[in-house]
Amino acid sequence: MPVYSTERLHLALKHFFGYDEFRLNQLPVIETVLAGNDVMGIMPTGGGKSICYQLPAMLLPGITIVISPLIALMKDQVDSLTANGIHAACLNSTQSPDEQRLIIEEAEKGNIKLLYIAPERIPANSASFFDFLRRLNPSLFAVDEAHCISSWGHDFRPEYLKLAVLKQNFPPVPVIALTASADKVTQDDIVQKLGIPGAKVFISSFNRANIYYYIRQKQNVVGKIADYIMKRKEECGIIYALSRAGTEEIASALKAMGINAAHYHAGLDPRERSRVQEAFQKDDIRVIVATIAFGMGIDKSNVRYVIHHDVPKNMEGYYQETGRAGRDGLKSDAILFYSRGDIIKLKKFVTIEGNTEQTAVSLQKLRQMEQFCESDRCRRQYLMQYFGEAFPDYCGTCDYCMSALEQVDATVDAQKLLSAIVRTGERYGAGYLIDFLRGSASEKIPAAHKELKTYGIGKDRKKEEWEWIVKQMFNSGYVDKSAGEYPVLKLNDKSRVILKGETPVMLTKQKEQRIDDIDEEEVSYDDQLLKELRGVRHDLADREHVPAYNILPDNSLLEMASYLPLNFDELKQVSGFGDYKAGKYGMAFLQVIQRHARANNLSSKIHLKAPKSTRKATPATTKPKSGSTFHVTLAMHKEGRSMDEIAEERGLSLSTVESHLAKFIADGELDIFSFMSPEKLNAITNAVKASGQQIALRPVKDILGDSYTYGEIRIAMEYLKSEQS
Ligand code: ADP
Ligand code: ZN
Repeated sequence: MPVYSTERLHLALKHFFGYDEFRLNQLPVIETVLAGNDVMGIMPTGGGKSICYQLPAMLLPGITIVISPLIALMKDQVDSLTANGIHAACLNSTQSPDEQRLIIEEAEKGNIKLLYIAPERIPANSASFFDFLRRLNPSLFAVDEAHCISSWGHDFRPEYLKLAVLKQNFPPVPVIALTASADKVTQDDIVQKLGIPGAKVFISSFNRANIYYYIRQKQNVVGKIADYIMKRKEECGIIYALSRAGTEEIASALKAMGINAAHYHAGLDPRERSRVQEAFQKDDIRVIVATIAFGMGIDKSNVRYVIHHDVPKNMEGYYQETGRAGRDGLKSDAILFYSRGDIIKLKKFVTIEGNTEQTAVSLQKLRQMEQFCESDRCRRQYLMQYFGEAFPDYCGTCDYCMSALEQVDATVDAQKLLSAIVRTGERYGAGYLIDFLRGSASEKIPAAHKELKTYGIGKDRKKEEWEWIVKQMFNSGYVDKSAGEYPVLKLNDKSRVILKGETPVMLTKQKEQRIDDIDEEEVSYDDQLLKELRGVRHDLADREHVPAYNILPDNSLLEMASYLPLNFDELKQVSGFGDYKAGKYGMAFLQVIQRHARANNLSSKIHLKAPKSTRKATPATTKPKSGSTFHVTLAMHKEGRSMDEIAEERGLSLSTVESHLAKFIADGELDIFSFMSPEKLNAITNAVKASGQQIALRPVKDILGDSYTYGEIRIAMEYLKSEQS
């Protein structure tokens, strides 16, 4: 087998698929396959498994046979390859014998590079199947959704077992098995069943860095969802609801508010279901309200948000459903509305009469779901740890990490709680004390207690508020708890100081974020142009009867609307434009961009699109190359232009300009004190320490208040980072 340099593989990736970079383990997986070895690749959904065999298929001399279980997905893949000018076809049970014969003929003539075969199409009599394969002279076997071969997996398909003898019959042909199934037992089983014990295994992280996770209290949900969607009318999203009736109600409420939404569930007739699915694929319907039945066969890459109107039954479901957002790698939101009421409803739902074992497992999974929603910690860390992956306690892109903490004065409440503990003789647990404080009429509270002055002095607060106060006071060491099954609250030295009124009690609380606080991406693209480009894509997709994202992914439209390529050479620098697509669709997009640029007197900014080697986030300590975009900013700064002016003139966001200059401060090229006084630097340093983290600006800004700008904070933080390293 020929050896391909990394450089050549990059060129091939751009030429055939238009992508600039490999993702996750794509590159090592591809190198291993091309060296003739068997591989097992484990990547999360949306990680980009297909490229792992599609690129080798283009470089190997013969045909690549792909076994794939879902007919809908298979069609989608073939369409998207065809859109790139690649000869691909599939064989499945929905085709007529004539159609199938035609495809087989083409394959035998060597006119097809990738042939997708549904497992049920593999004849039971394997001899004839292998004869057929032998005539095709395959270069590579790809087994997609490889967990289907394992009875340990969640989706066992007996037909997959027929693949066991592939390797025996074609020992020199490499096999690549791909799955998103993470557990070890299944992985071992796959390798063993496929007869590829020597396969190199590549496991990618399951973290979906471009998905932002949010959990919100469930109140006035539909109103909140509508507000959220109104701000992103051009974007596509899925709203999951628990019941079929729920999907219909929510969809019609949204429609009444002028949102183009449709509902989807397994009770609809099949024609209506495929109509809705297709309209969604083509961006004709932007919002789908669905039960979890929706999504199985959906491979839409530009889903920008997934909203859970109801709490999912377990973390596996949550991960899978939220995972349908952002398969194209762009920033996407996952928003979950949480209420205890949902948990109670679900408890009944997952309880199966007469099956205590299964019920216990489901209830345990539900408890973990509840914990996820209730806990005060980084959502991503919880999610990753649930799936057995270590993760730091700060991600910067979940509601917990992004939300500011606020200090609330709880002195009076604390005193009320502590005196209740004293009056009742330090013999009761939190539950009883809260009932007592709230003046509960329950018989559990003896008459003698009902006569105490502290009885009912906490009526003004809800039970949940008191629970929170007790938890926080305990965490802060203001009250003690006895050990044992029924812990009793007791005073300690700190409590006594509080009771005497000698010290205030400040508790830390996460500021409740509203759903419409969810930040929108910094906008540097041309909104009007983006709309027009979407229109072009939509028309092309209509004409060719393919989903819009098959023409081009969202990211390509965003890049065009940001960098305004004005000729073919410039256009080819846009991600998603392989040579074939640039030739086929380039003109349609270029015309619109050129017209828009002329009408608004704009010029191309393609030079701002950093070349491949510098586009990766540059650490603070690396020196920008001379002549780079950083130096342009530096030069303008030295000419005495303000950051706002530079941003305006260069068409960059202010934060980009700030981060450019910050690099030169880190470098020592610019002096930090030409940007702020030593006092300010000192205050920011303290606030950074107090906020306990080093990436997000907002917590630091919240501590410092209005006399500090984000720009100053960003610059100071870059400076501190460089000092540390
Ligand atoms: P998976 O099968 O792992 O769920 P896919 O192979 O369908 O994922 O890829 C998901 C999306 O990511 C597709 O739209 C695909 O075109 C895109 N993609 C894959 N690799 C890259 C890459 N290197 N750069 C940009 N986009 C990519
Ligand atoms: Zn986080």
